[in-house]
Amino acid sequence: MDSQQPPQGIIPYGRQTIDDDDVHAVVAALRSDYLTSGPEVERFEAEFAAMAGAKHAVAVNSATAALHLAMKVLGIGSGDRVITTPNTFVASANAAAYVGATPDFSDICPGSWNLDPHRLEENWKPDAKAVVAVDYAGCPCNMPEIARIARQHGAKVIEDACHGVGSVFHAEGRPWRSGEHRWADITTFSFHPVKTMTTGEGGMLVTDNGEWAEQARRLRSHGITRAPESFRGIIRPDDWQGSTLAGSPEDALRETGPWYYEMQDLGWNYRITDIQCALGRSQLKKLPRFIARRQEIARRYSEALADLAWLETPAVAEPRVTDASADQFRYCAEDVSLHLYTVQIDFASLAQSRTRVMEFLRSKGVGTQVLYIPVYLQPWYRRTFGYHPGKCPVAEKFYARALSLPLYPAMADGDVDRVISAVRSLTPA
Ligand SMILES: *Cc1c(COP(=O)(O)O)cnc(C)c1O
Repeated sequence: MDSQQPPQGIIPYGRQTIDDDDVHAVVAALRSDYLTSGPEVERFEAEFAAMAGAKHAVAVNSATAALHLAMKVLGIGSGDRVITTPNTFVASANAAAYVGATPDFSDICPGSWNLDPHRLEENWKPDAKAVVAVDYAGCPCNMPEIARIARQHGAKVIEDACHGVGSVFHAEGRPWRSGEHRWADITTFSFHPVKTMTTGEGGMLVTDNGEWAEQARRLRSHGITRAPESFRGIIRPDDWQGSTLAGSPEDALRETGPWYYEMQDLGWNYRITDIQCALGRSQLKKLPRFIARRQEIARRYSEALADLAWLETPAVAEPRVTDASADQFRYCAEDVSLHLYTVQIDFASLAQSRTRVMEFLRSKGVGTQVLYIPVYLQPWYRRTFGYHPGKCPVAEKFYARALSLPLYPAMADGDVDRVISAVRSLTPA
């Protein structure tokens, strides 16, 4: 199908998979009575909550919005510190800054490239009120250990599972889905087109806490409620003194008819549309197939590239987590909803810069990407918080050697072969 073809014959590093059933679902939504929030939003939320194993799911127009709302409902604000990984997209840290908190960064583990629980514990600061644990590439963080550290200090845990819709890890002798387990207070997911499944733009906040879910629902639409059971009243008895209303206690001002709503908090327009949720529901049905195909491609890469001395394939199974709870926490390749296939390349021994390598691969029709620049090195972070190179050496070394190869379900076997032979033809000079 035409929409599956990569632009200009280049295999991109990531791409959505849109089939005819997705197109039909969107067309049906367009022909319905609702374009913005309607019944498709609630259906998508219910189906997503069931998939993730969470009590509540709140759909919003991006994962960035979901992270912002998570900060708000958890009561994070100015004077608080929020610790996250440097190996993430800027949104994971920006959400803390939106609410006036200080985003801070703790180094990652070699191998899993996720937050290192040891470093987290060593570097804990008394004003830290939340941890944003990001599942890099879709590989789960050591959530039991991260939650133990955060909660012993009274801090909240947000799992940024934007990369890993549908990922699973094992602890306490059973599997747990991202969104299901008790080691995160709130979990967020992204439906940007390069992620596991898409709504064009979109995100989801999931939690087992009904109050947080209700608050997030209100805040995604200006802090407005139309539910009579939660009304507080716009007119109170003492309002009649000294106001323009004095002496005119109009019953109509107190009436709460069908037009009535209350704005109880300052919220935003973070609503998602019925059109997007129709696409989300259609994509959700195919999630197991998307995950299986991503795993299959990753397996082929790992087998075909294992012998290259200058390249390290990602450890997508049995992470080298070097802490005492490693035997309690593990995942295997079949558990991971893999978003990225990021290899580590020794560019020095190839005697080529990363730019040259990327240009060479591109000339062979292979797009690649570099994920991530350690967030604290971004100019705004350096300027605002005084962060410097050297803060998280493992993340800096990872960044210096990282290259993400194409990975998306619509890749044909021939595309995978093309990537493998292009990478293999990169021989040391
Ligand atoms: C993509 C991404 C986000 C932001 O998602 P949007 O839906 O684009 O707002 C946040 N965190 C991580 C780790 C991501 O990869």
